[in-house]
Amino acid sequence: MDKIYFLTGSQFLYGDEALLKVRNDAEKIASYFNAHLKNVEIIVTDLCTTSEAIETIIKQANYDDEVIGVMAWMHTFSPSKMWIRGLKLLQKPYLHLHTQANKEIPYPTIDMDFMNLNQSAHGDKEHSFILTRMHINREIAIGYYQDSSVLKKIQSWVDVIRAYKFSKHLNIVRFGDNMRDVAVTEGDKVEAEIVLGWSCNTYAVGDLVSKVAEIKDEEVEATFHALTKKYILNTENIHAVNEQIKYYLAMKKFFALHKASAFSNTFEDLYGMEELPGLATQLLMDEGIGYAGEGDWKTAALDAVIMKLAEGRKGATGFMEDYTYDFEKECVLGAHMLEVSPRFAETTPKIEVHPLSIGGKQDPARLVFEGTQGDGYALSLIDLGTHFRLIAQAITLIKEEESMPNLPVASIMWKIRPTFKDGVKAWLLAGGAHHSVVTTQVSLDEIKMLANLYNLELIVIDEHLDMSKFEREINK
Ligand code: MN
Repeated sequence: MDKIYFLTGSQFLYGDEALLKVRNDAEKIASYFNAHLKNVEIIVTDLCTTSEAIETIIKQANYDDEVIGVMAWMHTFSPSKMWIRGLKLLQKPYLHLHTQANKEIPYPTIDMDFMNLNQSAHGDKEHSFILTRMHINREIAIGYYQDSSVLKKIQSWVDVIRAYKFSKHLNIVRFGDNMRDVAVTEGDKVEAEIVLGWSCNTYAVGDLVSKVAEIKDEEVEATFHALTKKYILNTENIHAVNEQIKYYLAMKKFFALHKASAFSNTFEDLYGMEELPGLATQLLMDEGIGYAGEGDWKTAALDAVIMKLAEGRKGATGFMEDYTYDFEKECVLGAHMLEVSPRFAETTPKIEVHPLSIGGKQDPARLVFEGTQGDGYALSLIDLGTHFRLIAQAITLIKEEESMPNLPVASIMWKIRPTFKDGVKAWLLAGGAHHSVVTTQVSLDEIKMLANLYNLELIVIDEHLDMSKFEREINK
């Protein structure tokens, strides 16, 4: 279980009795959090009353792999110079909990003892000063600890830092290189590993082909049986379906072997394979493996990270490509050659086989379905040479009202905020890719937290867009 250290600041000035109360209140708050937060355990540390104690606690947090973050609260005044040595060493995400043990002021009984004990209104400001002075990235949760907005903020932070930990150890398998001559899918992999933690390495398609050859007929049959229960088989070309199942099983084994949670490939490098992986890739996406086409490892990894952040939530997240516009309805039709995540499915996906007009391989099997609806974001991560930029475009997935009987791939359709033209213009000016991660599962606050942890430039395009300001400031 992932853990968070709960640090409570104080000092010896108040005497043992007050410190005992501080300790008890910290325990009370932590147990409330433990009863209401998912996927994490809050651990109350020794009180932070000396420089030595703080340094020891932060060292422990740094080197305990189960500790995903540190939360700190100044119940009383805790002089911040004694935090400097510890905070200099801090390597874990930090949340400053600006709360009180009491929700309201006890007007009839309040005295100076109460004032001295319950003074986060000034103790937390001393703490925040040193965090600001030391340029320490942090989130701040403000309010009574039982308030739903405080719990929501902390749960979001927990989900984000779990994804951040995952990101720091994310391995990406890249079969082949980038699609020839394409610019936006390129990027600095060394910088990505430094900034984002992503380790992206190439593997020969031949290594995968040899794994495909090892897949046994019984494995293929069992998977085929399971798929026909889950999806509608809408083809007589069982060979093409089984070929995809072999790719799926082989890639799954390959990724387990290399501890990889994201991958990319390209239709220009499929030596020894009969088909471009379509159904195979869709099944892996459904299992939380990040993917993007044409060698786009950045989008593949971002896909995996956002799926991790959203684990267990309603909605969908997946790799997407802007394909074509309806200027009349002012919306975008998104799809890919084959690889659209079944997490977007509104209708039961059909397994179909159609020719692929690109790549010169056999007709590949794929899942075809209509897309889901809901508010969300399209996220694009680009490398500008000087730095990475994350772009978050607010979108609304809408129902595809007219049928598209000749479209042999899954698709989704979305509207852009604040308006079609301003949204598209801002995306174009920001340099956003044709590839994105579309998600209906994360909030803007969570996207901001993630960008803050990576120290990434984040461009948000939503209803608050001020076009003339945007045009003036972007790329300056
Ligand atoms: Mn593409």
